[in-house]
Amino acid sequence: MRVLTGRFMHETNTFSVQKTDMAVWRRRGFHRDNEIPAVFRGTRSALGATFEAADKYGWTLVHPVSANANPSGIVTDDAFEEIGGMMVSAAAHQGPIDGVLLHLHGAMVVASFEDGEGELLARLRAVLGPEVPIVVTLDLHANVTQQMADHASALIGFRTYPHVDMYERAWQGAELLQRAMTGEVKPRTVIAQRPMIYGLDRGRHQAGPMAELIARGEALEAAGDVLVSSACAGFSRANIHDVGPSVTVTVDVSGDGAAALARGQAIAEEYMDYCWQQRDYESFKLLSIAEAVARARDGEPGDKPLVVADYTDNPGGGGYGDATAFLKGLIEAGVDSVAFHAICDPEAVEAGHRAGIGPATLTIGGKTDPAMGGGPLTLTGEITHLTDGRFVAYGPMGGGVTQNYGPSLVFRVGGIDIVLITNNGQAIDLGQFTSLGIEPTRYATVCVKSMQHFRAAFEPIARAVILVDTGALCSETYTPELFDKVRRPVWPLDRIE
Ligand SMILES: [Zn+2]
Repeated sequence: MRVLTGRFMHETNTFSVQKTDMAVWRRRGFHRDNEIPAVFRGTRSALGATFEAADKYGWTLVHPVSANANPSGIVTDDAFEEIGGMMVSAAAHQGPIDGVLLHLHGAMVVASFEDGEGELLARLRAVLGPEVPIVVTLDLHANVTQQMADHASALIGFRTYPHVDMYERAWQGAELLQRAMTGEVKPRTVIAQRPMIYGLDRGRHQAGPMAELIARGEALEAAGDVLVSSACAGFSRANIHDVGPSVTVTVDVSGDGAAALARGQAIAEEYMDYCWQQRDYESFKLLSIAEAVARARDGEPGDKPLVVADYTDNPGGGGYGDATAFLKGLIEAGVDSVAFHAICDPEAVEAGHRAGIGPATLTIGGKTDPAMGGGPLTLTGEITHLTDGRFVAYGPMGGGVTQNYGPSLVFRVGGIDIVLITNNGQAIDLGQFTSLGIEPTRYATVCVKSMQHFRAAFEPIARAVILVDTGALCSETYTPELFDKVRRPVWPLDRIE
């Protein structure tokens, strides 16, 4: 069997001013053809699982590209055509393709296509015809569409947030693809949605409605009632028609197909009714900067660190990663023993690398949009560490894959060790500190920029975890002006009974 695989992943924050062009795609997590096995074989990643499955089932893999850009603004047409084109062209010219196992995000917005994944899958389907099984893994924050459900045979969303099950979901997809290619099953997927921009506690699976829908779906899968049940929470920083949570159900239509599809649709509708009823459920609480600074001051010597996450400048949600408001609050309050990740500021890193180890004055952060979480800060301190930003991530989400945050440094200002990076990215791995000579467990306070993913690696070292709202780009703001492309009526913009 010849299987087309690859990654093309982007979570698009349509409110970001940073366009996602080829230069952005190439900056982090971009690999072609022959580079791919060396990077992913033997890792606990989706492609790592795909290589293992290929060995087990004797597949010949065709892998034209693996591209995973950090969340940012709308993807340019050029970048979509170039990367998507690599996949479509491989389907057309490196065949015959017996099956497809793709790892996509599901919330990619392209300048000319609100539904980037739906467009890609439609093009692949047009090349491969209606019978070739196309199995797709998705991020739990996918804004899944009818077009995606129509053109993929199966959609399999992650079931954990932090996302620590990419490897398991890829294996689930591989097993299903093998069954489909050998003719044992014929998967088709249906989708249900409700008029809502967000829900399912933004995807937190530890308790609440997300946990309930995952448990119900897994029981159906185990009983063999459905092939896949996937609940996706959606990604709400997207002004697009189809934004919001969804449930997709994949059924076997090799027998009475119409009955199987009707049963799948009924399950998806029932689950989305529950999602709608539970729309107000929220398990997280955001503190003001003053409240968070106060908490950072009350540590005792010898305590484990307080971990403070800037929820609204989360680079994992398209935040610029250069908001300074919380850092400014810590400096003004004279808080010390703080490790701060990070300010993404290529200009300041370059100036720091030129200056070298020792005393320095740098202007850091707040340059992308000073209205989003604080403008530039000019600070005098000491540069204590310089690196190229590369390290292997061994944390729960890292999978043993090499990461590259670009030239990086540590800038010590008073008692605060500030990490400056070139390639934007949220803090999800302790290696983002330790590779820069910072041992986070030795600090009273550890600051990260992240909504939820940081918990996998940082909760185990924390005495407590708090979230802070610094007014940056990922603030939970919902107004009709911001969401003027969304279908209406829609909650929470409209009153819906
Ligand atoms: Zn996600």
